[in-house]
Parts: sequence; C-alpha cells; structure tokens
Amino acid sequence: MMLAPRRGTAAAALPLRTGCACPRGAQRPPPFSSTAAARADFTHVVIGGGVVGLAVARQLALRGEAGASSSSATTTLLLERHGAVGTETSSRNSEVIHAGIYYGAATLKARLCVRGKELLYGFCARHGVGHRRTGKWIVAQTHAQREALERIERLCNGGGGLGVPVRWVADAEVRRDGEGVRAEAGALESPTTGIVDAHGLMVALQGLFEDVGGVVALNSPVTAIAPLGSSGSRSGSGSSAGAGSGSGDSASSPSPLPSSSPPPGSAGWELTVRDAATGETSTVTAETIINAAGLGAADVHNMIAVPAGRPPPARLYYAKGNYFSYAGPRPRLSRLIYPAPEPGAAGLGTHLTLDLAGRMRFGPDVEWVDSPDDLAVGGANNARLAAAVAEIHKYLPGVDPACLTPDYAGIRPKLSPRGAVGAGGGGFNDFVIRIEDGFAGWVNLLGIESPGLTSSLAIGEEVERLLYGSVTPS
Ligand SMILES: Cc1cc2nc3c(=O)[nH]c(=O)nc-3n(C[C@H](O)[C@H](O)[C@H](O)COP(=O)(O)OP(=O)(O)OC[C@H]3O[C@@H](n4cnc5c(N)ncnc54)[C@H](O)[C@@H]3O)c2cc1C
Repeated sequence: MMLAPRRGTAAAALPLRTGCACPRGAQRPPPFSSTAAARADFTHVVIGGGVVGLAVARQLALRGEAGASSSSATTTLLLERHGAVGTETSSRNSEVIHAGIYYGAATLKARLCVRGKELLYGFCARHGVGHRRTGKWIVAQTHAQREALERIERLCNGGGGLGVPVRWVADAEVRRDGEGVRAEAGALESPTTGIVDAHGLMVALQGLFEDVGGVVALNSPVTAIAPLGSSGSRSGSGSSAGAGSGSGDSASSPSPLPSSSPPPGSAGWELTVRDAATGETSTVTAETIINAAGLGAADVHNMIAVPAGRPPPARLYYAKGNYFSYAGPRPRLSRLIYPAPEPGAAGLGTHLTLDLAGRMRFGPDVEWVDSPDDLAVGGANNARLAAAVAEIHKYLPGVDPACLTPDYAGIRPKLSPRGAVGAGGGGFNDFVIRIEDGFAGWVNLLGIESPGLTSSLAIGEEVERLLYGSVTPS
C-alpha cells in the first residue's frame, strides 16, 4: 500500500500493514503549529513496535480520536523494522507484572511500574488479555539476603513512600504452603505481582491503535532522521544511521544553528525509511517523533544527535538473560518465587516464573554480550544451565536438573556497563524518557529494561503528558 504524502517530498512508499492512505483528521491543524509542521504527513511517528512503542502509539492515537471532530485532531504512524510487532525484547522476558518494589520511590521506574501495573490489570480485564494475579514470594537464605528483604519491606510499608503491599510469610506458612520452597532467613510476599500474556497484550494494543485510526508500517526500518527547515525542507542536521543503512539522500555535515534560531525539530522531522523487502527508501514527515526502538534506541538517537553536534554518541550495553524451561512432574508451584535481590546486580536473580498454562521456567541470569543479536541460550557446554541449577537449588532443592532445558533468551538494553536493575546498590540506571534538550518534538526513550513491560501503559501516558501536559483517559 502506498502512503501518499501531502508534502512535495519523495513518495513515501511505506509498506503499510494496514491503515489509511489519508489518515483521519490529517487536514486539521496540529498542536505544534508552524507552517511546515502543519503540512507534515503525521502528527506523531513512533519508531519501534515493541510493547512500549505500541502503548505510546495507542495513547497518542486516543488523543487524536478524542479530538477528531475538533481542531486538535492528530494522526499517528508506528514504524517497525520487522515483519511483525513485538518480536524483540517484548517477547523475550519473564512476562511478570511487577509490583514496583525494587526501585526508590523517587524513580521513574517505581512511579511508572506502580501506575503501569494498575493500568495493565484493568486493561487485561477489559480487553480479554490473559493474565493472573499469582503473587510472589521473595526468599532469603542468609542474613544479608534477609536485610535486602527488610529494605524492600521498609520501602513499601514504612517510610519509603511506595505504598505497595507486601507481607512477611511466617516460617510455619512457608513449611505448610511453600510447595517445597526453602526460605531459611525469611520470605516476603508481594500479593500484587502477576503474569501476563505479553503477545496477547501487544495484539490487543495494535488492534486498538488501528481502531482509532493509527497506522502500522511493518518491514520499515528507520535509517535516517533530519529536522525540517522552516520551509519544510531539511535543515541540514540529520544523517543516516551508519554504514549500509542510509538512504543516500541524508544531509551532509552538521551545521550548528545560530543561537537565535528555533531548535531543530520546531518545523517537524523527516524520516527515511527503507523497505525491508525491496531495499527502496522513502520519506515520511512528522511533527513529533518518539524513539521507542528498544535495543535500537541508541542508533536512532545517534541519527539525530551526532550530526547535530551533540556528542558523545549514545550507546547501550547488552545484558542477556537465559531462560530454562522445566518439564519435571515435581515440584509444582502456583506462585512466582524470586531470590532476594543482590545489590548492584543487573537482574533480579534467576527466579521461577509461570506461564498462564502453569508451565514453569527459570531465569533470567545475567550474561554480558557484545551484540544485541546474541540470543543463543545456555552458553558453551551448557555452562549457563549448570550455574542456573546451583542458583535454583538454593531455594527449590527438589528441582530435577535433568528436567531443565535451555529455552530462550532476552537482552536488557543497559545504559551503563554494569547497569543495575534496582536501586540499593551502585550502578542504578533509571528509565530515560524525555523531550531531548535543545530539540523540539523529539521524545527519547532509552534504557527501557525491566519493568518496561509492566510500565508500558504508564509510559504511554508519560509521553502524552510530556508532549501535551495532559493525559487522555483510555
Ligand atoms: C530477560 C528480560 C526479562 C524481562 N522481564 C520483564 C518482566 O518480567 N516484566 C517486565 O515488566 N519487564 C520485563 N523486561 C523488560 C521488558 O521486556 C522491556 O522493558 C520491554 O519489552 C521493552 O519494550 P520496548 O518496546 O521498549 O522494546 P522492544 O520490544 O525491543 O521493541 C523495540 C522495537 O523497535 C524496533 N526497532 C529498533 N530499531 C528500529 C528502527 N531503526 N526502525 C524501526 N524499528 C526499529 C525493534 O525491531 C523492536 O520491535 C524484561 C527484559 C528482559 C531482557
């Protein structure tokens, strides 16, 4: 399907999966009024069709729908490089609805996880997405681990300000109801933790996005982004992503703007998109761009920031997590079991999670890798499996190692080399979700690791709030 651009740029031949050649409301003035921006093809272009990009796109499209009959109508396009949405990190995780208990109350991770959890339970119930409030136990075997649980308990119930329910599980209860779990130094229950069918969630988000006029373009890697000049042409501060990914028509060297000039992006943006099937490139223009490209987010960032003279380039570090499925008849558990978090660790520890059919799997561990494509599971000679068994036996001694099989792996996009997932140790990196300083209409999402799945709907709200100062009820 051809998308007919309204400006006189190269034809935008985006391989649209579905949608409309003339998006609803496209003729109405957008909220970022400038002559050039008013002629942009779309109000918002979201780059990346993982759960976060889908949630953001749907939230922004809801705003368009709410204003469809007024002058505030907007249009939203989602660009995804693969042939389907949600094939990267969003389908390679624990599918846990986190309670939000591992992060300091002042962090974005805590705020968006707690809000996201509430939104997600409501969304799943309304739209028939598979989920279950399983609850989880976090178990301690040593004094140090007990102290880690006490810190969480204080953060939740005490002066920490989180207000997320947790409770101590008595030793007798662990013995009676623990289904074989060992908790030598105590167990803390998080009753609001649960599981969700991540694929079902993304299918629902995509459908709802399209229902309110959103457009999904698959097989559409973004290869270059440039701010538009006031006349609707490029201002000269964008470029391609690098070798092999450019369109050939990107701007040349950066040309710093005089300090009195409006910031790049004030007049909108031009994105170059390659058709993954034919290799042909085309362009599409937008008033605002949202970088939700997950493991590709640093590359997208650098398409804009580097030519604009904003070094150093963004980079991500890759912390792979390996998962192992369990096919043994015993033990059989009905709740999630996590070890106490290790301060400064890149993950929450090799835990037990369940899918909606009750199947057990263990993971993810932490394996630092050089490439975001390194998704091989288990490590050389299954060394990862042996290490996982040692971790699992600390809290579930009845697990039969012969029944564990390497299953899949996912990669956490870390913002620093030893980036920790939680607060309470060194190296904590919060989510980065911001309108980039010195630019207009560019919302940047970097380091969206766990709890990004849980937080996705709240991240959608956050992006809308950043752009418009208010949130459309869903
Ligand atoms: C091992 C592991 C376990 C986790 N467990 C949990 C959990 O239990 N609970 C939880 O809440 N969170 C969990 N997370 C985190 C959660 O999975 C992520 O935060 C979330 O999936 C991120 O979604 P996303 O949309 O930002 O990224 P992604 O799913 O990676 O989506 C980004 C998309 O952008 C596309 N893209 C990239 N570059 C371009 C480009 N140039 N042009 C067009 N498209 C592009 C990609 O193809 C991809 O589809 C876990 C993560 C990992 C790695």
